[in-house]
Amino acid sequence: MSVQRSNRGPRTTAVHAGEAPDPITGASAPNLVMSSTYVMEKPAGFSAHELDEESGFIYSRWGNPTVAQLEQKLAAMEGGEACLAFASGMAATAAVLLSALSTGDHVVVSDTNYAGTAELTRQTLPRFGIEVTTVDTSNPDNIANAMRSNTKLVWVETPANPILRITNLREAARIAHSGGAKLAVDSTFATPIATNPLALGADYVVHSLTKYICGHGDAVGGAVIGSKQAIAAIHLESTIHHGGVISPFNAWMIIRGAATLPIRMAAHQASAMKVAQFLEDDPRVPSVLYPGLASHPQHDVAAAQMDNFSGIIAFRVADGPATARRMTEKLAIIHYAVSLGHHRSLICWIGTDALMESSFQLSGKQLASYRAMAGDGVFRLSIGLEDPEDLIADLDQVL
Ligand SMILES: *Cc1c(COP(=O)(O)O)cnc(C)c1O
Repeated sequence: MSVQRSNRGPRTTAVHAGEAPDPITGASAPNLVMSSTYVMEKPAGFSAHELDEESGFIYSRWGNPTVAQLEQKLAAMEGGEACLAFASGMAATAAVLLSALSTGDHVVVSDTNYAGTAELTRQTLPRFGIEVTTVDTSNPDNIANAMRSNTKLVWVETPANPILRITNLREAARIAHSGGAKLAVDSTFATPIATNPLALGADYVVHSLTKYICGHGDAVGGAVIGSKQAIAAIHLESTIHHGGVISPFNAWMIIRGAATLPIRMAAHQASAMKVAQFLEDDPRVPSVLYPGLASHPQHDVAAAQMDNFSGIIAFRVADGPATARRMTEKLAIIHYAVSLGHHRSLICWIGTDALMESSFQLSGKQLASYRAMAGDGVFRLSIGLEDPEDLIADLDQVL
């Protein structure tokens, strides 16, 4: 679905973009349309190849009114022309990778990123004859040095899971474009409130909607935002043929979550800053990584390209596995669980050796550089919307 750019503020956009009172019932809130098929006014073609902008709704894998409302809202929030929603963040990631790359192409990927993305790029793409180079994209020179004549895509995640490395998106876009490649950005940790990658030169923005944009831990979804042309190419192949479409029910839940994203992000950031400060001052915590702290290695880049430092903190302790066991037994408020960006605070231990083996497969200088930030492992703490004093007290009794 494509949208008109709006010059309204981000809070008004989050509440109203993609929504309008129902013309028949006057309903103020969005309708949930679960129909899988639509009665035609006149006979239409049977192939998605015959779809055009005036086609209307025909079949819900091709397009659905509730999903379209979510897509319009997200496109407006990112300042993009068009958006496609998917069944999960990984479905959105796969959609970009599989539509932008073919056998014989080369892709440059951040060497620390979401584990699913790490495994898809390192294990699946090579099976299809796609060459993959992983580099630490927080140093733009590494991207430039990895570019080849057949590089079609640069994929970065910023802030990157789990150590919150920041990549300078203007630089990454300049390097990708000067080599004839596109730039895709997984901006899940940043959200459209912190950074609008398209405005910094990116061609595709990817979000796991499961995280901050839904915000309540009760719907899985993903999205890609970009130019009308970039999104149209993904629509036919990935939405219609690969088929990983989002349920209208999940889209409806995520529309509701997205409306409060700006005010939630302000609260996540304010609490995360307090908790990060507490951890940084605590002698039991040798190292804290939070983009909003002056001690973060790319704090300056973060301050320049993020309007909000988001709510995720990584920190180390002397004995991670023992502390993790204590947390599962004693935490009273924070849930020991994967995922992030929910109104409930979540924490989990990410051990370096296991992550390297299952997902990142780094060696040499890249492994040394990861270990310099993460040591044997980090706790990834996603700060929710509880009172920060209660979160600090909960952490204090398990550290
Ligand atoms: C969770 C996540 C994904 C995958 O999203 P799902 O909705 O779980 O498929 C991709 N990238 C990042 C940064 C994530 O945090």
